[in-house]
Amino acid sequence: MILSMIIAIDGPAASGKSTVAREVAKRLGFKYIDTGAMYRAVTWKALRDKVDISSEDALTVLARHAEITISELEDTRYAVTIDGEDVTEAIREPKVSAAVSSVAKLPGVRATLVKKQQGYADIYPNMVVEGRDIGTAVFPDADIKIYLQALPGERAKRRQRELKEKGHRIEVVSVERDILKRDKTDSTRATGPLAKAADAYVVDTTEKTIGQVVQEIIGLAKKS
Ligand code: C5P
Repeated sequence: MILSMIIAIDGPAASGKSTVAREVAKRLGFKYIDTGAMYRAVTWKALRDKVDISSEDALTVLARHAEITISELEDTRYAVTIDGEDVTEAIREPKVSAAVSSVAKLPGVRATLVKKQQGYADIYPNMVVEGRDIGTAVFPDADIKIYLQALPGERAKRRQRELKEKGHRIEVVSVERDILKRDKTDSTRATGPLAKAADAYVVDTTEKTIGQVVQEIIGLAKKS
C-alpha cells in the first residue's frame, strides 16, 4: 500500500511532461501539480496588468499575493485560475510562452512559488509534480525522479500540433527556435535551473508512445 509518495517529473519544454504526468497521476489517483502553469499564471497576470516584467520586486509581490489553483476537471483535463480568473487557455498563448522564462529566472519569484509548491506536500500526501527543478530543488527527497527528454525536432513537432489545435499556425522551425531559447534561459539561470537530478531516471520519449512512458513510470512507482 502506498502511504505517501512524490513523483517528480522534470525536463525541457515540450518533452511530454504534462501529458505523461497527468496520466500517471490519474492512474495512481495522485494529485497532479503543474508548476509550469504557476509560472505561466504569474506571467499572464503581469502582462495583463502591465507590470514591469523586468522588476523583480514587482513580480515577487505579484507572485506572493497570487492565489493560484490547479483543479482537476475530467479525463486528465485541468483548470488553472489566478485570483479567481480562469486562465487555463490564456497561459498557453505564445506571448506568455515568450515571456515566462524571464519571469521564472527571478530568484524572488522562484522562492515564492517554490514555497507554495512545497506547501502542497502538507495537503496532498501523494503527488505527481512536473517542472524543471522539482527533483533538484523543490522536492530533492522525492521518492521517484524522472527526467524526460526528446530530440528538439520531435518536441517542436509535438508543440506545433498542440498550437495548431488551438488555432495558432506557426512554422515548425520557429516553434523549435522558441523552445530552444526557453530551454537555454531555463538551464542557464542561477536559481533552480532546469537540470537532471543525479538520481533521476532518464526517459527519452522521442520514439516512445505516451502509454509506454506512463507504464514505465508506474512500474517504478509500484516497485518503490
Ligand atoms: O512546463 P512549461 O513549459 O509550461 O513551463 C513554462 C516555463 O515555466 C518554463 O519554460 C520555465 O521558464 C518555467 N518553469 C520553471 N520551473 C518550473 C516549471 C516551469 O522555471 N518548475
